Amino acid sequence: MSDSDELATPCPLSATATTPPIDLTQTKEVTLTRLKLVWHDDKVKDDKEDGKTGWRCLWCNKFSNPKHATRALCHLLKISGQGIAICKAIIPPLRLERYRALRDLGIASAECKKRGLEEVHDHVASRQLLAVAQLTVKRSKTSTGGAAASSNSLGFNAATKKHPFAKPNTHPSNQPSIVASVKNATMTQQSILQSNNTELEMAIADLFHCENIPDSTVQSARFAIVLKKARLVGNDFKMPGRKMIGGPLLALNYKTCFEENKSLILKNADVYGLTWLGDGATIHRMPLLNILTMCGDAPPMVVSIHDCTAHMAAGGKKDAPYISDLFEEQIVRFDKEKMFTDLVYFDGAANVQKAGRMLNAKYPRAYALTGGEHVISSFFSDLVKMGAIKVFNVVSLNPSICLLIRA
Ligand SMILES: [Zn+2]
Repeated sequence: MSDSDELATPCPLSATATTPPIDLTQTKEVTLTRLKLVWHDDKVKDDKEDGKTGWRCLWCNKFSNPKHATRALCHLLKISGQGIAICKAIIPPLRLERYRALRDLGIASAECKKRGLEEVHDHVASRQLLAVAQLTVKRSKTSTGGAAASSNSLGFNAATKKHPFAKPNTHPSNQPSIVASVKNATMTQQSILQSNNTELEMAIADLFHCENIPDSTVQSARFAIVLKKARLVGNDFKMPGRKMIGGPLLALNYKTCFEENKSLILKNADVYGLTWLGDGATIHRMPLLNILTMCGDAPPMVVSIHDCTAHMAAGGKKDAPYISDLFEEQIVRFDKEKMFTDLVYFDGAANVQKAGRMLNAKYPRAYALTGGEHVISSFFSDLVKMGAIKVFNVVSLNPSICLLIRA
């Protein structure tokens, strides 16, 4: 980033008759030079302090962490009460104008995004209500056998039907009785509940249809728990953001799940031993290696899905020493004393078979085998790629093939 904007301030000495006039167009362009990100400014620098990663303001030399663009701008613009100390240095006005323009842009962008979300919300809600109205009418016709439900929807007909031993009605004829009023209120409440149920039902269906969620998810125990918990929360419940779900909540969920699975795997490891298996797979150009473990009565556990991108980019290969080292890193976490590991399964590829033999050498109780199910799977995978075969015609043309198949 250039510092030419500070130099763009008109100098008083330049206002003489011999000095060429100031190019206002040029001055305006320099003044309105905008930053796309505050981190692009030459007075804002990525830095580390006490092992923490953050940024440093080169105006006042203050270090802050973590990197937070909005707070950084508040520091530079000396806006207090935003979770960061204000800058103590004197910043030239043109620089302040540049920072202010960037902050205004951010605020306008956030407001625009908020308005867009509100519009989408209103559109989705109105469309769902149309579907809810049609569903309600359809069910109403079904439940009343096609007759209009208006006759008893307010409860007056049922209330005015006299019981043979009922006392004479002392209320004026133009007012509903207490029984009718209670009945009316009950019916109204039931109608509201039914309407709410239908609205939720349609909202769930619309969510599944429009967010590409598999229909079978509605049978998931986790989905049932979500609905159950949603009934119990208060108005102060705050929906977790996508960064929270994909960040701290994911890390916590993973850790809890991993520890639970690990204890389950190790529960009877001294009886059944530990079996390790894995294979390489490149998905969307990302070279991966998965590592799983099994133990007797416990279901298989995914221990690691290792991203080999950095290793491959540095010129490495998925060779036997590399695979063996990755497996050993995980085996040590489960079997530090080398007491339980007794089987390693790989497919028939030379690199993984060699890695299996290397693990054999390190774990004297273990031996490596070729995973038969992988070979069968590969065979049928190749078979389905072939064109359709008319078995009947082939056999009729050459009876010896029939004999071969029978044999
Ligand atoms: Zn500062």
